[in-house]
Amino acid sequence: MKKRIYYTKPSITELEVEYATDAARHGWGDRCYEYIEHFERAFREHLQVDYAIATSSCTGALHMGMAALGIGEGDEVILADTNWIATAAPIIHLGAKPVFVDILPDTWCIDPSLVEEAITSRTKAIIAVHLYGNLCEMDELLAIGEKYGIPVIEDAAEAIGSIYHGKRAGSMGNFGSFSFHGTKTLTTGEGGMFVTNDAALYERVLTLSNHGRARGQKKQFWPEIIGFKYKMSNIQAAIGCAQMERVGDLIARKREIFRYYQKSLVSIDGISMNPETSLTVNGYWMPTLVFDKSTAITREDLLKTFQDEGINARVFFYPLSSLPEFGGVARNSRSQSICERAINLPSYHDMSQTDQISVVSIIKKLKVNEV
Ligand SMILES: *Cc1c(COP(=O)(O)O)cnc(C)c1O
Repeated sequence: MKKRIYYTKPSITELEVEYATDAARHGWGDRCYEYIEHFERAFREHLQVDYAIATSSCTGALHMGMAALGIGEGDEVILADTNWIATAAPIIHLGAKPVFVDILPDTWCIDPSLVEEAITSRTKAIIAVHLYGNLCEMDELLAIGEKYGIPVIEDAAEAIGSIYHGKRAGSMGNFGSFSFHGTKTLTTGEGGMFVTNDAALYERVLTLSNHGRARGQKKQFWPEIIGFKYKMSNIQAAIGCAQMERVGDLIARKREIFRYYQKSLVSIDGISMNPETSLTVNGYWMPTLVFDKSTAITREDLLKTFQDEGINARVFFYPLSSLPEFGGVARNSRSQSICERAINLPSYHDMSQTDQISVVSIIKKLKVNEV
């Protein structure tokens, strides 16, 4: 039987094992926060931001950040229709309403002109999700935020390694969020990070993250507001510390894998891949192929071909508006159209060139067969 090619896999070396083992043996009592503090510091330095709070997930970081911005009952939050549910779920949990707008055809990220059209008196935030490592048009989004006095949130879960005009993804908005789920470029198994340069917002999230207990409160077990419990454990943070020492290498390898696909597939007509526009660097979390309508290649063709060849391919995110919980009817044509003729390609640190060659040859074959 042929070997399966997975679409992602974490890169775990002796360093991660060593730190996790140390945390399990010694990271208790007085030392129970050591790796967490170290991980937060390393992440702040990497991102060049003032504050970072390690969390149990990116979803949790978004939930607390939006709660701290005061988003609640009856409010609206604008985000791209092409998205993973994790960005929208916390909006619903807070009693607010997600407003889905269409994406740009080249970056597959939120279209700023549609954001401006969607603003109402109830809009409380705009979320910029850097899809698959591609960058949102941050200058335009931040200008809109400024013009209307609306915070811009960056969900950078997929964008470690991505840089926009010299600034790292996640460091430009009112706050940013990251995910260290096992499929992400940098992983702690499960985990996330809240980052910001806003001291007051940081204090609010810090209090929320500690079940509403304010820093400096001398009285024990004295929560003053209802908060959350989305903390990262010291053992997870230990793995994160090792990954942070290797972050440059983890990102470089993602870029190398992407470049190999790009070089091998660029000559085929009717395919586009993740863009890297001027003044940006793409972290290329998920190398993605979008087939032109003219090729007549569909998601179903792609899935079947990949499955038959033992390759784990991932479908491009469905528009959230097309999911049953949001009405079940796709409301944005570009978001709907792209997901019908696109696929994510396998990409992970230890992927061999032989495996990449197999993936490429299948795509080439598919093209010949189908057109
Ligand atoms: C993975 C992902 C999340 C969710 O991350 P968790 O850590 O699983 O909560 C949120 N947003 C985007 C864009 C993601 O890709």
